[in-house]
Order: sequence, then structure tokens, then C-alpha cells
Amino acid sequence: MNWKKLAHNYQAQMIQDLTTLVAINSANDPKQETTEFPLGPGPAHALQQMLAFGERDGFITKNVDQLGGHIQYGTGDEILGIFGHMDTVPAGEGWNSDPFLLTNVDGQLFGRGALDDKGPSLAAYYALRILKDQNIKPSKTIRLIFGTDEENQWRGINHYLEVEPLPDLGFSPDGEFPVINGEKGIVSYQLQFPIAATTGDQVLMSFQAGLRPNMVPQSATCVVQTLDSSELVNHYNYYLKQHPQIQGNALIQDQAVTLTLVGQGCHAMEPENGYNAATFLADFLADQRFDDQAQAYLQFIQTKLHLDFTGTKLGLAYQDETMGALSQSPDIFQYDQTNSGNIVINVRYPKGHTAGELQEQYQQSLPINGNVTAAEHAQEPHYVSDSDPLVSELLKAYRTQTNDLTSQPMTVGGGTYGRLLNRGVAFGALMPDGPNVMHQANEYITIDNLLQATAIYADALWRLTKNK
Ligand SMILES: [Zn+2]
Repeated sequence: MNWKKLAHNYQAQMIQDLTTLVAINSANDPKQETTEFPLGPGPAHALQQMLAFGERDGFITKNVDQLGGHIQYGTGDEILGIFGHMDTVPAGEGWNSDPFLLTNVDGQLFGRGALDDKGPSLAAYYALRILKDQNIKPSKTIRLIFGTDEENQWRGINHYLEVEPLPDLGFSPDGEFPVINGEKGIVSYQLQFPIAATTGDQVLMSFQAGLRPNMVPQSATCVVQTLDSSELVNHYNYYLKQHPQIQGNALIQDQAVTLTLVGQGCHAMEPENGYNAATFLADFLADQRFDDQAQAYLQFIQTKLHLDFTGTKLGLAYQDETMGALSQSPDIFQYDQTNSGNIVINVRYPKGHTAGELQEQYQQSLPINGNVTAAEHAQEPHYVSDSDPLVSELLKAYRTQTNDLTSQPMTVGGGTYGRLLNRGVAFGALMPDGPNVMHQANEYITIDNLLQATAIYADALWRLTKNK
């Protein structure tokens, strides 16, 4: 079959359908959640629209309580599941065009969800349509399954899987080519330091940084009560001069000095790409005079966390041959002189250790009375072997359609729908050399990428369901 040529036949209709989907604002808005639409009307309308395409084209469809749904083709005891999502992140600021009006600029289709994940979901849908229109009868039941809360808590897909059977194997068109067959475990720990109100010549009143447990903090602030504010500010200015990659300023009000530091935020799965404002500020403060409890908090950050992205200083570092190394990113800091000192650390870990073992390691590194809790439910590492036919057949489909024989299966630090199944991976639709503009202003997918992904998915569906 010439999948590429077949995919091209659907170009106009695919772009029209993508225009229809992008026009629906399907960012989750907690304020609009109702009993009829538990995740708000936006994601539900996008799901309804996607399923309506399936009905229009003669497929069996099912909507599971406005939270998830599927488009089905073929019969067979085994189910091949393809997992996309109809929700998006909010449009946000900074667009050059209307984020809800799909806009074609020289073959780049701009719009919120064009790449994540409405475009790739449609590419998988049109692959299914090609199979059907070519009258190819798959040996498995193929279900194109759509979630509506992928960007948040996966409530939609989890509900769907409570009602409908778990597919036997599958992939998610919500990642990158050639294939993502490893996803590190993800867990956040909250480290609590014992704090009680103190007095002294110089007191750390508060220390704060970070908004979310999966983002390196861009800025950090502290308030210091001191008898010698000019000395503290002089030291701070000297520290800033020595570290040109960061910026900061000091504000003196009576005996209170507020220090602000601005670094560079980034995603917690690649913390080395940023400058953690909090660990830099603590690195400075740890060399000033404070009481023991503030000193313990600051020195822990300075000596155990600052610029250590692999947990080496805490004895946490390890790597897996195929999945790479553990990474740690301290992302939320809250110190209040009267009652609390907390740090939330986001950890991405390969197979080899459990979240419980890592927690124990953090616990041992803390001062007496310090305490570690898991701030969220851990996602264990997920890995499907290169030798599993799922991975090898997907790779064959990709290579046949692109002639790219060098790109290899990979492991990422993020979590995709691939981890829903023991035999589940992420597969496209971003090309290895394509810029990743997901979640950003001016998100786009190129028409070439859309058509190429459609051809790859059609080839893959055919390979995974042909009669042997
Ligand atoms: Zn996505």
C-alpha cells in the first residue's frame, strides 16, 4: 500500500476537521465543572465533535459519560488501543493569531491543540479511515480512545477505563517519533524541617519560591531581619556580581531586608536547563550568619541540592542502561520563621529503585526531627522492551514511511498515556527534528507532519492487525 499517497487524498478534509476541533476551547476550567459535564463543557464538546466525525464516516462510536469515548473499527478478541486526548492547555497570552481559529501560514497550521493533541489524534483517525475505505479487515478490534483531562489529572481516561476493557496493547499519538518506549517514574517528596520561632541579630523571617511541583522556580524571595542591613546587601551584591547568570535586588525597610533573585525557570524533567532561583538564593544565604534551624535548612539546600540535578550528593544517583539517569528538581520552597520549613522535590527515576526506597534515602539525609512524605502518588517507571513486537513493528512503520533509519526508541522523563497499558508506548506525532511547541503560544503542526503521521499510523495499524 502507498500510505503516503492515500493520506494525501484526505488532506483538505483533515484540515477542515482540525479547524472544527481547534475552534472548540477545550481547556479544563474547574469553574465550569457541572454534574452534566464533570470536567466542564469544553473538553466534552471536543469529544462529542471527534465522535461525530466517526459517526459521519460510518464507524461505531461510544461516549462514556462525557469523560472519554472511542471510535471503533474491526472485530477480533484482542483490542488495539490508540490513546489521544481532546482537552488542551489554556490558550494563554502571546499569540500572533486567534488560538481558536486554525491559521495556515506557509503550511504551518497554528492553533491551540494543533500539535497537542488534536492534530495527532486526527492523523490517527484518518489512518483508521484509510484502512476502512481500503476495505482492509483488521484481525484485532481497533479502538481510537480519547481522554478529556490529559493535561491535568487523567480523570477522563481513568473513568473510561473503569467502564470499558483495558486494551491488550496500544500506543498514544501524543509524543514523539520514532517511539517512546520508556517513561521514568515520577514522584514529588515534601521535606519538612523542624522550625520554631527564634530571635537573634539576624533572623531569616521567610524564604519562598516556586509555583508548581513540576517547574524549576524562576524567582525566589526572602525576608531577613538584621541589625546590619547594609552589610547583608553588600554581600548580596557581591554574590550577584559573581553569578552573572542570575539577577537580583535588595529592598531595605527599617531592619527588614527583602532579597529577590531571578534565575531561569524550566520544566522539572530537565532541571539542568534552568537556573533554580531558590537554590542560588539559599547558596548565598547559607554563608551568612543565622540561627541553627535556618542554617540547617539553608545548608541542606546549599550542600545537597544546589546544582546537583542527579542526586549525587544525597547518594540517590543511579542510572539504567536503557532509561538513563535519575533527576531531581527542588521546585517549591516555603520557610516561615514561626512554624515551618518545607521543600518539595520532584524526582524522575528509571527502573531499578522504588519510590519508597528513594523516600527512605531522603529521610536519612535530613536533620533529626526532619520528615519526608510523598507529596503525590508516585508513577512507577514504565518500560516496554525494544524486542516487543509492538515496539519493533511501530519502528518498522516509522522507518518505512520516513527512511530515517538512525533515530532510536527513547525514554523520556514525562508521563504519557503510553503508561496506561503494560504494552503501551507513545508514538509520534512530533518528528525527531521538529520543534516542540506544545503548551506554548503559537503552537502549530505542519501539513507535512500531519500527512506523514497519518501515513505512519496507517502503516502501523496495518502491521499490528494484519492476518498472519
Ligand atoms: Zn498531550
